[in-house]
Amino acid sequence: MTPPDVGWDADPVVAGRSALAPLAASVTGDVCVIGLGGSGLAAVGEALRRGLSVVGLDAGRVAAGAAGRNGGFLIAGPAIALHQAAAGWGAEAALALYRQTMDEIGALADLLGPEVIRREGSLRLAGLPGELADAAAAADRELELADCLDQQRTLQEHGIAVESYAGPLGQGLFLPDDAAMNPARRALGLAAIYGPRARLFENSPVRSVETGRVVTDAGDVSAGLVVVAVDGKLEVLLPELTGRIRTTRLQMLSTEPLAPGPSGEPRLPCPVYSRWGYDYAQQDRAGRMFIGGGRDHFADEEWTLDTTPTAGVQGWIEHAAARFAGAPVRVTHRWAASAGYTPDARPLVTEVRPGVVACGGYNGTGNLVGPIAARAALALGLDGQRPGNYFGC
Ligand SMILES: Cc1cc2nc3c(=O)[nH]c(=O)nc-3n(C[C@H](O)[C@H](O)[C@H](O)COP(=O)(O)OP(=O)(O)OC[C@H]3O[C@@H](n4cnc5c(N)ncnc54)[C@H](O)[C@@H]3O)c2cc1C
Repeated sequence: MTPPDVGWDADPVVAGRSALAPLAASVTGDVCVIGLGGSGLAAVGEALRRGLSVVGLDAGRVAAGAAGRNGGFLIAGPAIALHQAAAGWGAEAALALYRQTMDEIGALADLLGPEVIRREGSLRLAGLPGELADAAAAADRELELADCLDQQRTLQEHGIAVESYAGPLGQGLFLPDDAAMNPARRALGLAAIYGPRARLFENSPVRSVETGRVVTDAGDVSAGLVVVAVDGKLEVLLPELTGRIRTTRLQMLSTEPLAPGPSGEPRLPCPVYSRWGYDYAQQDRAGRMFIGGGRDHFADEEWTLDTTPTAGVQGWIEHAAARFAGAPVRVTHRWAASAGYTPDARPLVTEVRPGVVACGGYNGTGNLVGPIAARAALALGLDGQRPGNYFGC
């Protein structure tokens, strides 16, 4: 197998990033944010907007975790589709979160520009592109097509743009308001915007968290409020969340550029996901494909804190990659990262100890919900404002 290495990091902007210094002495701030992924950086931005002094810490670099290693999909809504969320949580709650995620795409696009946030829409396909493998795949595609229709009906009922799709990749839905990005570039862009006004430290693993005090090897942070914005492995830092959140490994690979179509068009017009969202792929502007999935085929072994890619899952992704590409692919990078899951698909926003709030558990889709949850965690800690009931607390 290709040695593990994150495909997004080959982007010259990511490769050329300057590292932030680690925390080297004890400091004080109004707010300490632990975790500088997309969620933690949103908490940093919100605290700055409120005129507070902020210290941000990451165990590795900015976006060292899932926020720099994910599919880069900016799909409105939580991990489950709007019609399923409405059935489980009530239409009002599901719609409120859906609309906030749509606003989040717009806010990210305004902040970071079209070079980072590509507003291309997204395609949900029923089943993988190409020939059906067997009768079970055919039956599943029929079920998924019916589910696409339910999703379309619910979106239309609420005036949200959606179109039927039937084309070279198969059948499903096109959602024109969704977007895509290189996730590492999103996080680095936010860190560059907030960095001059906040004190952000890389390579500063937090060893323990108490009310008012965060301990690292080289110094402590004293802060009135501590926001723990860590998705995967949250229960390692805060063991009281064990059972409420569970860490899984999600795996990806990237390829050499795919051959363009006859008029030079990319094979994938926008981010595309299939098989109930288990497999997902996008192409960057250079034509490289970034694809992940297969967790459902290996669910038991993927409940792990380990982030090493495995031959089984990578083999499945390579198979799916050839289906998405319509031809065999040449793999250049393979990687994995941790993500937090919750039993009812509601992300967590909760006060864990007095003055210590945490958010995480985005069930594999935290690029938009994560920042919303992080701001809700801040509002819970600072104002005592209860989060919306689309969050578990
Ligand atoms: C392979 C994969 C594909 C995915 N695809 C998508 C997708 O396409 N769209 C989508 O919306 N979501 C996707 N997700 C989920 C999404 O990546 C995450 O939900 C989201 O990135 C979570 O961001 P975060 O900032 O909350 O947490 P993280 O990205 O996990 O960031 C937490 C940060 O905390 C730091 N940290 C951890 N412990 C400590 C400590 N003790 N001290 C200091 N720092 C610490 C880590 O180094 C890390 O940088 C995917 C996830 C994976 C793994």
